[in-house]
Amino acid sequence: MTKEYPDYIWFNGKLVPFNEAKLHVLTPTCLYGINVFEGIRGYWNDEAKELYCFRLDDHYKRLYESAKIMRFNVQYTKNDLTGALLNLLKINNIKEDVQIRHSIYLDGFGSWHSTDPIGMFISCKPSGRSYGGKKSISCCISSWERINDRSISPRIKAGSNYQNSRMAQMDAIVNGYDSTIIMNKNGKVAEGPGSCIFIFRDNKLITPPITSSILESITRDTILSLAEKELNLQVQERDIDRTELYVAQELFFCGTAVEIMPITSVDRIVIGNGEPGPITNALMQKFFQIVRGKVKEYNKWLTPTYGN
Ligand code: PMP
Repeated sequence: MTKEYPDYIWFNGKLVPFNEAKLHVLTPTCLYGINVFEGIRGYWNDEAKELYCFRLDDHYKRLYESAKIMRFNVQYTKNDLTGALLNLLKINNIKEDVQIRHSIYLDGFGSWHSTDPIGMFISCKPSGRSYGGKKSISCCISSWERINDRSISPRIKAGSNYQNSRMAQMDAIVNGYDSTIIMNKNGKVAEGPGSCIFIFRDNKLITPPITSSILESITRDTILSLAEKELNLQVQERDIDRTELYVAQELFFCGTAVEIMPITSVDRIVIGNGEPGPITNALMQKFFQIVRGKVKEYNKWLTPTYGN
């Protein structure tokens, strides 16, 4: 049986037993949520007996960017991070799909504006699909506004940003939806609480631009590239209105955790015929082949753990 969490966590330069990865209650990360992180997936390929980490370089690029904006001084190089992660996966003998959390946080007993000490940890957890394996989800439009770059930047993948996600998601759940779509301060579609969004309408695959109060999602970038190169679709990065969601032929969330998740109703209005559409299905098929190392041209996006 799969244990919920593996035995070891990488914690400030050492591999420590799960129960020993502890922080003091008075650290600024604990008091104010002063941390940045990445959620990364590893996919097990049983034929190759290999665990592939997806777009690791891009995740670490974004982690350094988040840290830079937060003025965190990170001592480790990208190679150190990759080495630490692969060691962690190996020592935990991960041979199944896994979700990884790599966090950089403000440690010590300072305040929210302290600059050091900076701590880091990496944990991993076997993980399947989100939303309890549902084939598609229902969404509402959130009455909460997405945070923006003039207050709390959604470009930073910071733990504290998820307060906004929490308000929106919990409101949706209380009202009987699976999730929610959050609008930005200009009243245009931004993103979901933990994912970006695409619509397929009039033969175009459309997603809000990276300046529309969204996280610069790596899955979003993957889909833009697959849609053009593999499905020959016309893609557009432009503002999306609320009512365009209602009349879209297809709609889906994308992100490391949700991967590609069809949305089949918005505000109880049925999207398309109420089933995941052909474009979404085609993208999902391609995506899942690529992440598992089954499409050679895209192995550039994969970091093998065991070196097979
Ligand atoms: N937006 C938000 C708010 C998220 O939390 C996430 C998940 N990291 C995403 C988008 C998707 O980003 P990515 O594809 O890089 O996981």
